[in-house]
Amino acid sequence: MSGESQAPAVGIDLGTTYSCVAVWRHNRVEIIPNDQGNRITPSCVSFKETERLVGDSAMNVAASNPVNTVFDAKRLIGRRFSDPLVQKDLMFWSFKVASDQADKPMIVISYMDEEKQFAAEEISSMILTKMKEIAEAFLGCSVKDAVITVPAYFSDSQRRATKEAGTLSGFNVLRIIVEPTAAAIAYGLEKKSSDERNVLIFDLGGGTFDVSLLTMSDGVIKAKSITGDTHLGGEDFDNRMVNYFIEELKRKHKKDISNQSRALRRLKTACERAKRNLSFMAHTTIEIDCLYNGIDFESKISRAKFEELNMDLFEKCIAHVDKCLKDAKMDKASIHDVVLVGGSTRIPKVQQLLQDYFNGKELCKNIHPDEAVASGAAIQAANLSGQGNHKIEGLILHDVTPLSLGIGLIAGEMSVVVPRNTTFPTKKQRIHFTSFDNQTIAEFDVYEGERPRTRDNIQLGKVTLSGIPPAPWSGQKIDVCFDIDANGILNVSAVIQTTGKKSSLTISNVDTMRPKDEIDRMLEDAESCRSEDERHEHRFAVRRSLVDYIYNTRDNISTKRSASHLLAPSTKKIRDEINNAIQWMNANRFAEAEVLVNKRKELESSWVPFITKDSDT
Ligand code: ADP
Ligand code: MG
Repeated sequence: MSGESQAPAVGIDLGTTYSCVAVWRHNRVEIIPNDQGNRITPSCVSFKETERLVGDSAMNVAASNPVNTVFDAKRLIGRRFSDPLVQKDLMFWSFKVASDQADKPMIVISYMDEEKQFAAEEISSMILTKMKEIAEAFLGCSVKDAVITVPAYFSDSQRRATKEAGTLSGFNVLRIIVEPTAAAIAYGLEKKSSDERNVLIFDLGGGTFDVSLLTMSDGVIKAKSITGDTHLGGEDFDNRMVNYFIEELKRKHKKDISNQSRALRRLKTACERAKRNLSFMAHTTIEIDCLYNGIDFESKISRAKFEELNMDLFEKCIAHVDKCLKDAKMDKASIHDVVLVGGSTRIPKVQQLLQDYFNGKELCKNIHPDEAVASGAAIQAANLSGQGNHKIEGLILHDVTPLSLGIGLIAGEMSVVVPRNTTFPTKKQRIHFTSFDNQTIAEFDVYEGERPRTRDNIQLGKVTLSGIPPAPWSGQKIDVCFDIDANGILNVSAVIQTTGKKSSLTISNVDTMRPKDEIDRMLEDAESCRSEDERHEHRFAVRRSLVDYIYNTRDNISTKRSASHLLAPSTKKIRDEINNAIQWMNANRFAEAEVLVNKRKELESSWVPFITKDSDT
């Protein structure tokens, strides 16, 4: 298909601090500059009395309009207000965040003399709308299709909310892909050889640090391990420099500006600029007219000083790389490519420490690190919309489920439907039989995790199916289907086979927040609790077989009774006993295997003679 007549699809890196939009045109990726000529745009929205500013203009008024300037919306998107991470972040923001009735964080601002509340996806959609306008101005046509990136650790609800933000901006979101994968695509690493390649993505941005270890082979990209720090990045380096100059002001001018928010913000902006300069120069100067109480502040800082101020933070980054490799049980020599992503990897010291760690290995840095994610997204967008040429066609991207997904059975057993590390998109079906007589309602709790007991896993939501026609145990079949789309968004549905009645899962936000370290912790727990878990697995197996024994005996007896083989008094006795046994099973859902085995012996000793006698007759 030729892309000439169609508006091109774009790739957007919706970053915590900066966003970037790119397009595949003329056989290459083009990063689209904004109206200020900048290739990245601050992910910032500022509400003034009469207008709403987005991007550079919003950043420029942030100092004078702190309570109505919103940044970091990505830290809120798809999370709950009560989330401890949200509670912690709140303390550092100049804008107000409240909770709605459903525990959703709402950003409270005053706009046009009115108090207004916005969800994080609405703020993100304002940024995406800006990125759309930037692309449309550059391409001279309206743009509809987009691929948007999210961090690898984003949960289902965070991905959904990001997609929702795209839709609110009028985009047709072709796909949500994860940032490290996008960066790997930008470098074409998945095409380098048909053998498995191990790729380490080092992403040091404005406020977050992510390390991902990916393996790629035959176009399948899998995340081996992900680690990082949600509060480590360029802003921390800026703050170190700000504190350095605050001390200098105290010494030289006897003034403390640490509580002067306007002066601080201006100093911070100047420090960020100085930091950027120091990536290319050995010295730089800071000049701020009328910083505070008529002082025109001017000072110098060297790259060496900047490095000294931040050395512990840089070393922390390297420690995370080490952890990432250890988590994946991999040696640094087995890494084929080390990719630099994020504006802060332009800092020469960071590059040097990383290169030293990998024993002098060349780093992949010929794509601007703050543009690599958007570049990969643009390639993927062209690929998905059929606008790429032969250079990029044929790339099929697969992500994998980080944890197993399944449903909870009656005794608290996790029944896995989609195993861990399944590549998606995928659709898995499971037939479920009614689990007691005349069951009219079935509730399927959806869980995520590796443990055999649901209580040790994370509940994602619930599908409730009512109106099941009454039937004996096992008499009705329900098709349970787990469908994960290409964006990693899960849909669970349940259908009664006889009537076709359907119910599907609306993912509630309950406990879907699943940061990377939580995944790690769950996998470690599964490992360390292996023997305990085996005990539970055994218990579940014994229980399943006992349930089958009881119901099969009952079925057996009713068939025989109808054939009049069994004498009435003994039938009645057995039927009473069977009913008692069913009640006992319900009352003892969590009984240990030993107890269940004894119960079985007891039932067999009572029932076998009758059944044998019966078969003798
Ligand atoms: P995000 O965290 O939103 O993904 P980026 O990857 O664009 O953002 O990183 C933004 C950070 O990169 C900012 O803190 C910015 O100051 C920093 N940065 C950009 N250019 C340079 C540079 N030349 N030297 C050092 N830091 C830089
Ligand atoms: Mg980024």
